[in-house]
Amino acid sequence: MGYREIIENAIAAGREVLPEHEAYQLCEEFGIAYPPTRFATTREDAVEAAESLGYPVVLKVVSAAVVHKSDAGGVIVGIASQSEFKDAYDLLFANVKEKAGDVPVDGVLVQKAMPKAAEVVVGGLKDDLFGPVVMFGSGGILVEIFKDVSFRLAPLDRDEAMRQIKETKAYEILKGVRGAPPSDLDALADLIVKAGKLLSTLPEIRELDFNPVFAGSDGAVVVDARMVIRG
Ligand code: ADP
Ligand code: MG
Repeated sequence: MGYREIIENAIAAGREVLPEHEAYQLCEEFGIAYPPTRFATTREDAVEAAESLGYPVVLKVVSAAVVHKSDAGGVIVGIASQSEFKDAYDLLFANVKEKAGDVPVDGVLVQKAMPKAAEVVVGGLKDDLFGPVVMFGSGGILVEIFKDVSFRLAPLDRDEAMRQIKETKAYEILKGVRGAPPSDLDALADLIVKAGKLLSTLPEIRELDFNPVFAGSDGAVVVDARMVIRG
């Protein structure tokens, strides 16, 4: 499915939020990196997906009723073998049932586990007054507690994105602390530019949220993508 079709199907179905794997297809179109990912609707297909991706993998629930997957026990990381994977699959469904109730589940995402890296957030929205705006900030609880974010109008160029990164406290961490290697700031700035391009090119995308982005020492990878569309 092309990305035009993804957006049009979603609008026709009255869906406001793109499922994670469809959001990745839009990323693909704009050259935004994400881990090798497979969508599966049965336990058998999921096992097969894990085998073909190669361990370690991460397993995630796909359900419109589960927005914050981790809160529902809907993300299991570090799965290292087929037997662990089968247990994780069953655990995932038990978790979701316990925490979210009997909600409809579309399937699961099996995703290649990415190496540990600094986690940051890249987001975007269409402001009524300013139009497309991109956001960059610290990942995890830092963004919620310290409001460590900076904004720019989109589209923007690499230099502007670099200045945006340097405005945040996250930058201090990305430079490399306590022996951790510095993050690849060029790749990160590039990702922000592409997020700005996506947002300013596609009128139907109202909001995007890449949370987190793994800002590694060689490349920047979106490991969770959420996009809200305008019907
Ligand atoms: P949520 O809906 O809870 O935000 P995420 O998809 O962001 O779910 O996953 C939760 C956390 O799991 C992420 O913040 C990240 O630390 C970790 N994670 C998710 N995907 C991967 C991956 N492919 N490789 C390594 N860690 C991951
Ligand atoms: Mg997330």
